[in-house]
Amino acid sequence: MPDYTERMVKIAVLGSFNLDLVMRAERRPAPGETLPGEFAMFLGGKGFNQAIAARRLGAEVAVAGRVGADEFGRQFLEALDREGIARDAVSVDAAQGTGVASIVIEPDGENAILQAPRANRGVTAASIGRETRLFDGASVAMLQLETSMEGALEFARQARVRGARTLLNPAPATVVPEEMLRLSDVLVPNALEARALTGMAGDGIEAAIAMAEGLRGRGPAAVVVTLGGLGAVAVADGVRCHVPAFKVRVTDTVGAGDAFCAALAVGLAEGAEMEAAVRFGCAAGALAATRAGAEPSMPRRAEADALAAREVPA
Ligand code: ADP
Repeated sequence: MPDYTERMVKIAVLGSFNLDLVMRAERRPAPGETLPGEFAMFLGGKGFNQAIAARRLGAEVAVAGRVGADEFGRQFLEALDREGIARDAVSVDAAQGTGVASIVIEPDGENAILQAPRANRGVTAASIGRETRLFDGASVAMLQLETSMEGALEFARQARVRGARTLLNPAPATVVPEEMLRLSDVLVPNALEARALTGMAGDGIEAAIAMAEGLRGRGPAAVVVTLGGLGAVAVADGVRCHVPAFKVRVTDTVGAGDAFCAALAVGLAEGAEMEAAVRFGCAAGALAATRAGAEPSMPRRAEADALAAREVPA
């Protein structure tokens, strides 16, 4: 996707930080069952992943969040520094440890996740309210729901006041206050989250478009529903489109949604049309699915541009 701007765009990210403890197994264990697995550990958390991806895709990124005063927290802060992400708004919690996620991945790449938010819960409305510089010069503010809801609401309010377009990835699936939807300019659920938010049933492209239209009526100017191997659909003013997924060799889909959201945010911040930005998102999501883990699988600009430039996703 061509860069539509001459200067680097800035994206503010509300970041959740979770250390991902990953087990690869033949299948998820049944209740009471013990199965052998292969273990790996990755820096993750939807907010952290999205911040890393937005940076690698070419944006200036400032992140807000909270880690524990432990070895995991130090690893996150070092990673942010290594990537060149501004972390003035990331605080350290002396009492709560860094967030942890326990992930089981099956051979087809499907994943199931348990999560302990810990320090992420300490991102409050008051802590966000203090971080006014976070939004300076930001054209898009991206958030998810792994930190506290009051912190997320305040992040979106501040972003709006400061002129940034808000992009909400309402994940994990949870009860979302209507105010949160009204504060979202672009809403990006996956299929599961779209079903949870709408109470609608159904799989596939047409069902997702119907859900997106329903959600649009509740506030967001644009709704993009990601559909894994089916790509994504988008509904906005004058836009109603489906972008198929790019065919890739899947290793694990951990982080695919995060890469998608970051690429969509970068595309929109650079002034791309919605369909082009969704296509860029699909390219980034597909690349993330080809590699293990979250942070290591976040794609870089050149490879996302190259994949997005393929004639027809096939
Ligand atoms: P989440 O990880 O939040 O559940 P999805 O699974 O919908 O999100 O993935 C986000 C995006 O990543 C999809 O819209 C798609 O473009 C891309 N993607 C995900 N899985 C695959 C896959 N198996 N093959 C190609 N692209 C994929």
